[in-house]
Amino acid sequence: MSDKVVTRFAPSPTGFLHIGGARTALFNWLYAKHTGGTMLLRIEDTDRERSTDAATAAILDGLSWLGLTWDGEPVSQFERAPRHRAVAEELVRMGKAYYCYATPAELEAMRESARAKGLPPRYDGRWRDRDPSEAPAGAKGAIRIKAPADDETVVHDLVQGEVRFPNKDLDDFIILRSDGNPTYMHAVVVDDHDMGITHIIRGDDHLTNAARQMVIYRAMGWDVPSMSHIPLIHGADGAKLSKRHGALGVEAYRAMGYLPEALLNYLARLGWSHGDDEVMSIADMIAWFDIGDVNKGAARFDFAKLEALNGVHMRRMNDAELLDIFINTLPYLEGGPAIAARLDDTRKAQLLAALPGLKERAKTLVELADGAVFLFAERPLPIDEKAAALLGGEARETLRGAHAALKAISGDWTAEAAEAAIREYAVAGGHKLGAVAQPLRAALTGKSTSPGVFDVLAVLGREESLARVADQID
Ligand code: GLU
Repeated sequence: MSDKVVTRFAPSPTGFLHIGGARTALFNWLYAKHTGGTMLLRIEDTDRERSTDAATAAILDGLSWLGLTWDGEPVSQFERAPRHRAVAEELVRMGKAYYCYATPAELEAMRESARAKGLPPRYDGRWRDRDPSEAPAGAKGAIRIKAPADDETVVHDLVQGEVRFPNKDLDDFIILRSDGNPTYMHAVVVDDHDMGITHIIRGDDHLTNAARQMVIYRAMGWDVPSMSHIPLIHGADGAKLSKRHGALGVEAYRAMGYLPEALLNYLARLGWSHGDDEVMSIADMIAWFDIGDVNKGAARFDFAKLEALNGVHMRRMNDAELLDIFINTLPYLEGGPAIAARLDDTRKAQLLAALPGLKERAKTLVELADGAVFLFAERPLPIDEKAAALLGGEARETLRGAHAALKAISGDWTAEAAEAAIREYAVAGGHKLGAVAQPLRAALTGKSTSPGVFDVLAVLGREESLARVADQID
């Protein structure tokens, strides 16, 4: 056997890829990349009532958007049911598991008596040592594994440390139901073994399952993979993550205008750190990530931090790359489709030229789109309320002079040339620069805020700029 690391992400397709699932996938992916290993994807679709194809598609879409690639085809757990059954039957043949014919009424009585004693519900092992010939005629039993009764089961967890489970708490749990379907507990073990998983990295809500799953590994004589149970994400107030806190599907983060790289950076830093480094590229994360450095304590989700980090990533990304991501994200952004519909080559070039100014004022792609709307507006521009206020009173006269000054520019139409012309006009007319620049901005963009007004003039070009200003004078 090679030493190559094989991790897996094993979502249940009962809903979207939520933010906690994305973080689990990220840690599996980073660990695989960091060690030169592979990450596999298994869709845990054994629960036929709750699993849907739409959820599977949404999960794959979410992972792809984030760039969390998996190796090979996704494995369907449901399709492997015959193999799960075969292993359960093999365990019976090996004397490590047995058929149990306890009736629902008997099981209910066992639960009831445990409850009365204040104990957790537990199967009493009544079929464990009985001869198969005692099976009631025609009854289909469930298969239960023989769990160890004494001593303890120890999970050596890379995140949680040594976690001890007294074996007296593990009862002989079912691995194959009487209808022939495997239980989830059993399916996970058989799949992880068959897929050659060396490292299991998953939410710490699965920690107690780990002890039960070890019983199955041991019974089959299989190696137990390395285990890492990562803490769940909580809201900023410490409570379990809810929708209000950001427990949304990752596609909601795409629609809110976050960059995949920034979201991954934020999720990686939730519960893991590398010195004081806050801002990390994907390459940094791969180089620095180690699963053993993940904290045990619950991580807290904080929208404000995510937003600030997203702004940093936008500003440090090169403009061509940011433009690419922006264009690809437009269909998902509020107001994005309208921009996408009008994006020809000229406007793409304008957008690229405006990007340095736009990204200084935007923390998300939604804000970027909002800032870029002026490029795509049709004349006469809709003027918002604040901009209209800037165009009242004396402003129209001032604007008339500014229009003439701009029109008189004889050389190249650049931000510098526009600035020189406007400054000269302001000085000559005894205007403060702002008294000229503000109405100019309002006329050019229909808004009271925008990138630097001279950059706006340069990006829009001579003809369009002069026409927009003229619209507000006449
Ligand atoms: N399907 C499980 C879940 O979505 C994960 C099980 C595992 O990683 O072992 O929570």
